[in-house]
Amino acid sequence: MTSPVGIEALREQVARAFSQQFGGAPTLWVRSPGRVNLIGEHTDYNDGFVLPIAIERQVTLAARPRDGVRVRVYSATLSARDEFDPHDLPHAQGWRDYARGVAWALREAGYPPPAVDIALASDVPLGAGLSSSAALEVGLGWTLTQVAGQSIDRARLAQLMQRAENGWVGVATGIMDQFIAALGQADHALLVDTRDLSYEAVPMPPGVSIVIADTNVKRGLVDSEYGARRRETAEAAHLMGAQSLRDVSAAEFDARAAALPDLLRRRAHHVVTENDRVLRTVAALEAGDLATVGEMMNESHRSLRDDYQVSHPNLDMLVEMARRVPGVYGARMTGGGFGGATVSLVANAAVPDFEGEVSRAYADATGQPPPIYVTRATDGVNALA
Ligand code: ADP
Ligand code: MG
Repeated sequence: MTSPVGIEALREQVARAFSQQFGGAPTLWVRSPGRVNLIGEHTDYNDGFVLPIAIERQVTLAARPRDGVRVRVYSATLSARDEFDPHDLPHAQGWRDYARGVAWALREAGYPPPAVDIALASDVPLGAGLSSSAALEVGLGWTLTQVAGQSIDRARLAQLMQRAENGWVGVATGIMDQFIAALGQADHALLVDTRDLSYEAVPMPPGVSIVIADTNVKRGLVDSEYGARRRETAEAAHLMGAQSLRDVSAAEFDARAAALPDLLRRRAHHVVTENDRVLRTVAALEAGDLATVGEMMNESHRSLRDDYQVSHPNLDMLVEMARRVPGVYGARMTGGGFGGATVSLVANAAVPDFEGEVSRAYADATGQPPPIYVTRATDGVNALA
């Protein structure tokens, strides 16, 4: 069965599921988006900058308060239901632990979850690197606090939902995914300083789309290589006498890099130049200079491929195919790497060519077309009318 796509189809699916599972109709509707990072890759654990957008793929949730203490959650995406007492909470397997982790993180922070029935469905592909998990967490967190009548700051919600994923589910992720799901703004990218979580909405110029293309390569190696890059960059910072690579400017790097062994120099070079590229991308977006934005994306990919060594041959191929299409400003791998997706900045008029030509070329080369998601930047989590 193919899952519904788009907010209207999701609402129909969720309304039907809600009435089948719990009877009657919900009293609150919530939308929470997936995300893609435009630039700023592998910078977040070095106190650096990221520039994500919330995308037009989302989880839609419907809720109604109930008597007692128990929370009931039904995922129409997985046709599976969970039920728990948030004050007496054992772990569970798979997706149920995400729901429980959200309840746990809220409870621990003084936002006790209310008794509620929730049905949800998502058109963020699961496990494709568009952060279906953060969309789910932030959507559930927002829904639970709204139903309880608790007011919660969006940045605080993001931090608590990161805690749910790190501290309960046990997946080590940075703050970016939850942050953009909570704080995204329509037609803006969000420059986030991961050192202090200050942020700035950066208008996206009109006339361009963000196009995500998935390699169909499941992200392998991620955990071990991710850990290795964390250690390598921390070590490089230490050898340069800095608290983190964030504190090393491009000029300082050139002056001090000779002290580093070759491998660490390349790793650090990526992080230092990537932080610089994020800020140059922001300036170019503000100036409407799409050519420079594209150049920064291309250069980011080169750096991730050659210096940071987290790309994959299929990512490199997909990026090359995208750049061949007239009207594509730039393309790069996005997310942790070793598989997953690419992100391209594409003139609106060129999007159909992109879809046709990249699909054909990639299918010729690999036997399978890449799933393609065309999006603009959307708002973060919100109640729906
Ligand atoms: P990504 O966040 O990149 O999509 P993750 O592995 O971090 O991939 O998260 C995917 C997991 O999140 C799923 O395996 C599932 O446990 C949970 N999840 C995401 N969306 C839903 C949903 N609509 N219903 C139930 N669980 C979901
Ligand atoms: Mg995730």
